[in-house]
Amino acid sequence: MDAPDVRALFQSLNQAGIAARFVGGCVRNAVLGRAVDDIDVDVAVDKPPETVMRALAASRLKSVPTGLKHGTVTAIVAGRPFELTTLRRDVETDGRRAVVAFTDDWLEDAGRRDFTFNALYADADGTLYDPFDGRSDLAAGRVRFIGDADTRITEDRLRVLRFFRFYAWYGKPPLDGPGFDACRRNAGALGSLSGERVTKELLRLLEAPAPADALAAMAEAGALDHWLPEYDGVACLRALIGREDRLDPLRRLASVLEAGTDATALGKRLKLSTQQALRLDVMLAREPALDVAGGTKAWRAGIYHLGNNLYADRLLLDVDEPGDWRAALALARSWTPPELPVSGGDALALGLAPGQRVGALIAAVGRWWIDGDFSADRAACLAHLEQLVRSR
Ligand code: ATP
Ligand code: MG
Repeated sequence: MDAPDVRALFQSLNQAGIAARFVGGCVRNAVLGRAVDDIDVDVAVDKPPETVMRALAASRLKSVPTGLKHGTVTAIVAGRPFELTTLRRDVETDGRRAVVAFTDDWLEDAGRRDFTFNALYADADGTLYDPFDGRSDLAAGRVRFIGDADTRITEDRLRVLRFFRFYAWYGKPPLDGPGFDACRRNAGALGSLSGERVTKELLRLLEAPAPADALAAMAEAGALDHWLPEYDGVACLRALIGREDRLDPLRRLASVLEAGTDATALGKRLKLSTQQALRLDVMLAREPALDVAGGTKAWRAGIYHLGNNLYADRLLLDVDEPGDWRAALALARSWTPPELPVSGGDALALGLAPGQRVGALIAAVGRWWIDGDFSADRAACLAHLEQLVRSR
């Protein structure tokens, strides 16, 4: 609130007679004492978007008409975006997207938000507005729907996913009973959401510091039945969280899938990128086993074959493999695999004709080189190549 860009923004709005309040995530996190620097800043305003754009223009502040129909203007102040949204009320809901009307009633705007602690507002001098006692719920870790949970989910079924996502980030057990029951009653409607939306919510849930309970509750409510039938419990996720050196939501997703999960099918359903689906496929592969107990030489071979990051992924996920996984992980994070010092050209130089045999020979030298723990230099590899050529 003290930042010069924020002051400039509020001054611009106030000069034009527009009342503005921070709302949503930035207030919620500020109240909790959590970081707000990397979070999007939402501001609610009591005048229509055209008025807001005029006010910003009058103060020479840049604005983008992000979604005028929905009341949203993005102000760019000192390079930083602020989403300014006119107070709204729902006119019509269809289970996902609402038709809204602008209003100047702060309470109406608050009433269409999802959870009590997401309807916290603060004005520029720090005065807090908390129409549904969201602060108490936040302190207690209670994710509580504003109004009747079933009604609110019928208006927008995405709220089922948001319920568990916010529980993962802000909740403390026990989970709010009426909210959970309503989610369970409405879980059957989630199939008609879009794969992109579901994936975004799921990965954000998995990014929470300790999301296992929230995911398990989600499964219990039946909220994973349609989108993630491969779900197989959170035991491996818990173990993974105890080991991981870097948080990665896709790796966490891999940890809750049953053996034999078809990464391609899952990727299509959840609209993963090709790269994400490929990565998932390698993470889920059980073969070849990593041989964690095999020590440094086996680790190096594994890192060479899979690449540093995928080897680390597999290592973190293979929570039942015996062996010193910490040392193996440290190696995966620090060791750069060398390149095989000979290539097809060297075989041709020995008088071989281009063809399959060249590839097979180089592969054989590669296996020998890896088996020797990468210690053979170019001269030694060439000598071995020559020996192979002669002996065949
Ligand atoms: P974060 O940005 O960390 O996800 P946030 O609270 O800012 O948290 P957004 O999805 O950015 O979440 O939404 C901003 C605010 O808009 C929310 O705090 C909430 O008040 C309201 N909101 C967003 N989505 C919905 C929804 N589906 N139903 C009701 N209110 C919603
Ligand atoms: Mg937000």
